[in-house]
Amino acid sequence: MGDDELFDITIIGGGTTGLFATYYATMRNMKVKLLESQSQFGGKVMQFFPEKLIYDVGGYPDISGEDLVKQMIAQANRHQPEMLSNRWVESIEQKSDHFILNTSDGEQHFTKVVLLATGSGTFHTKMPDNWDALPFPEFRKHVATNLMNREKYHQKNVVITANNKVGVGWALYLKDHAKSVTVVNPDSKFHQVKEEDVEQLRNSSIPIHMESHITNFDVKENQLQSVEINETITVETDALLTYHGLELQATPLDNWGVATYKGRILVKGDMATNIPGIFAAGDIVQYEGKTNLIASGYSEAITAVNKAHLFIDPRATEQLYSTVIYR
Ligand SMILES: Cc1cc2nc3c(=O)[nH]c(=O)nc-3n(C[C@H](O)[C@H](O)[C@H](O)COP(=O)(O)OP(=O)(O)OC[C@H]3O[C@@H](n4cnc5c(N)ncnc54)[C@H](O)[C@@H]3O)c2cc1C
Repeated sequence: MGDDELFDITIIGGGTTGLFATYYATMRNMKVKLLESQSQFGGKVMQFFPEKLIYDVGGYPDISGEDLVKQMIAQANRHQPEMLSNRWVESIEQKSDHFILNTSDGEQHFTKVVLLATGSGTFHTKMPDNWDALPFPEFRKHVATNLMNREKYHQKNVVITANNKVGVGWALYLKDHAKSVTVVNPDSKFHQVKEEDVEQLRNSSIPIHMESHITNFDVKENQLQSVEINETITVETDALLTYHGLELQATPLDNWGVATYKGRILVKGDMATNIPGIFAAGDIVQYEGKTNLIASGYSEAITAVNKAHLFIDPRATEQLYSTVIYR
């Protein structure tokens, strides 16, 4: 991977905008590569609300974030583009007729044009302060940081370590589904939470350990057996959930020479940035009337890809109907 093969278009960012742009560019017969920094595709939808129902994407009366992203990955894969995860694009070099994208682990990707679908960057899940000092690193890597597939907690002993409203929400949901729920909060209070939710949690039978830490786990054959709290209490545990907020790693657009205003790329109707050959779409762009919605990203991706196609081949058709392409 990262050899010197030249692609027509490389899309940076595999959120919903980048995934749709990937499909659409292959539909326009372009040679396409997608680079995403996270291990999963789906961007904010997967990081903030995978389990929530979305009602404002055309064609779906309602669909969960996770299911929408699954459909989008299937659609993006239709013409087998190169879709690479775990690739953080660190820098962009402009050559006379192409760009070289350098990733943080030293790979180089060669492309005629670039489409930025980066949102404002990538979000990393914060872990409790002592997390790296705990045993079982392989187990720790895969601890759940969202409530996807919530049925799997049915009648299980669940420990939640969290310091904010997300953890409180999980505990309130799971109290009627799990066999037992225990909450561990390293802080003296829960942040960004409605007082009535904390009250409801306190009035429930859920043990809440404030200013407390998980100090050990017992894991056998990758299955959690118990969790130790404050070196004194051992709780029989089948599943552990953790949420201590997210941290933004901003896309270094300024270092790339891409002009921004208040952190966003100002674009006109052609989705072009200040650098010829670099286009942008989705949450990272700003223009009068812009909405930060999944569906707006789709439409902007279509325009950006069509303009990028024209940039490479001025004889290309401005747009094509899929009903005409797939006869
Ligand atoms: C809580 C919440 C609820 C929402 N609810 C709705 C809703 O109901 N309906 C709706 O339509 N919209 C909703 N939205 C908005 C919607 O989530 C966004 O509009 C949409 O996800 C934007 O997609 P995107 O692909 O443009 O950006 P993102 O989803 O932010 O994706 C950007 C991707 O780029 C990657 N990336 C960034 N920099 C680099 C780099 N240097 N190298 C490699 N990869 C990089 C990131 O890791 C990320 O995966 C909601 C948003 C939030 C936060």
